[in-house]
Amino acid sequence: MKLRLNSLKEGSQTIEMTLTRSDLAIPDDSFVHPILASLSIYKGTSQITVNGQLKTDVALQCDRCLESFDYNLDVTFQSILSSVKSSDPKTDEDIIPITSKTNEVDLSPFAHDALIIGLPMKNICSETCKGICPGCGVNLNRVRCKCETTEVDDRWKPLENLLTNTPEE
Ligand SMILES: [Zn+2]
Ligand SMILES: [Zn+2]
Repeated sequence: MKLRLNSLKEGSQTIEMTLTRSDLAIPDDSFVHPILASLSIYKGTSQITVNGQLKTDVALQCDRCLESFDYNLDVTFQSILSSVKSSDPKTDEDIIPITSKTNEVDLSPFAHDALIIGLPMKNICSETCKGICPGCGVNLNRVRCKCETTEVDDRWKPLENLLTNTPEE
């Protein structure tokens, strides 16, 4: 994801592009879909500010039910390119030094970090996901198993039989 500095005009502009995970050197194979990048760029006399927004759907596996689901990832990052040396070494970390001879700057590391940090800590397909039954292993979102109700079932069985055996009138 390279920004060509000599193609930028003074002032504001937006550049949009579609990336893949290999463009950003993301080893995580849950990034199966294209990554849409929108860069809002402001070019001043000695500084270029880039506000990036990245959107993609990552294919995750639910920690509870083990089903795969798409997670909508929408993250932002900012990078500042400056030809002026800052006197404060702390702010220097976030600033990419450029000179009048710099042709292009690779923003991939910024986009890469923003996407990785944006991934959820827990992969849950839905807040209401019921997960997998520890007794029989079925996905409780789809099937209602009888594990928890076995005792009740046994108690009501005679009555159930009675009901089903009742001849139709
Ligand atoms: Zn789930
Ligand atoms: Zn069960």
